[in-house]
Amino acid sequence: MINKINIKNLTFADIINYFCDKGYPKYRAEQLFQWVYKDIEDFDQIKNMPKNMIEMLNNDFYIDRAVIERKQKSQYDGTAKYLLKFNDGNAVEAVLMHYEHGRSICISTQVGCRMNCTFCASTIGGLVRNLTCGEMLEEVMVVERDETAKISNIVLMGSGEPFDNYDEVIKFIRIINDSKGMNIGTRHITISTCGVVPKIYDFIKEKLQCTLAISLHSAEDQRRSEIMPVNKKYSISEVIVACKQYTEETKRRVTFEYALIKDINDAKEDAHKLGNLLKSMRCHVNLIPVNSVEGKTYLKSERNTINDFKETLERYGIETTIRRELGSDIDAACGQLRQKYIEQIN
Ligand code: SF4
Repeated sequence: MINKINIKNLTFADIINYFCDKGYPKYRAEQLFQWVYKDIEDFDQIKNMPKNMIEMLNNDFYIDRAVIERKQKSQYDGTAKYLLKFNDGNAVEAVLMHYEHGRSICISTQVGCRMNCTFCASTIGGLVRNLTCGEMLEEVMVVERDETAKISNIVLMGSGEPFDNYDEVIKFIRIINDSKGMNIGTRHITISTCGVVPKIYDFIKEKLQCTLAISLHSAEDQRRSEIMPVNKKYSISEVIVACKQYTEETKRRVTFEYALIKDINDAKEDAHKLGNLLKSMRCHVNLIPVNSVEGKTYLKSERNTINDFKETLERYGIETTIRRELGSDIDAACGQLRQKYIEQIN
């Protein structure tokens, strides 16, 4: 495969350029793009192109496919956690969840992560490498293949900080949104960041209608810096200003993710601080009962504490939900399945 390019790393515009440079008409690009996202395994399966063109494609490109290394399926709600291996041996996690409105997949954007959030298993070995947009697409495609079903919602909230792999993530969103390919609307795509402020401004300029989710986890700078080192660089107030601009420009409300950790950020006072911080914003708060992670000492908040926290926020007029605990019988915390795999192969 030396010098060959994974076709899934090309946008539709890239494919048009490729065919135009070779002197072929534009409709050939459309044909190829459609076949790739019909999930062909190799170019010989293309039925409406001449032999010499297929040969040309075989010489210049390959179709990357991930391998399902492990799969855990919840017996309670069908949530499935996949460990997907790419051709260089690196593996990432993707989680398929079933909701009333369809299937949703949470994908990874990097192998590992360098953001060092203290409650997260994905960051334990640091950042290994960025995923290409083709590999992110393949996370979705391999799960659709396995389930023989379409996925309707994408959440970029697995391992990695999406804005730390900005260009590939944007390319991924544009390809998966393309009506000639997988055609997933940007309103069905959520991108979650720990708060890389300059990239939030870049993202505003993309003029996409995605849901922006911020992993906040504390309304107080000192506490947030302790659990999320990124906060030392970009303070809460800087994140909030950027989010307000996102809402203003896109007319989309921002989601704030708040993982409730027992005795760390779940006190009544914390809820009031969060309420005061967000009360003037068009936003939504998603409370996440934190999953315990091996090697980390954090504990899940009590159910009563979680309910009280929600009620306090609602008194500030903030729409608040408690994330359903899907897949409670599998290694649900982000990064745990990969971590176990690494320990076993080493
Ligand atoms: S929570 Fe997200 S940004 Fe933080 S270390 Fe984990 S994967 Fe990285």
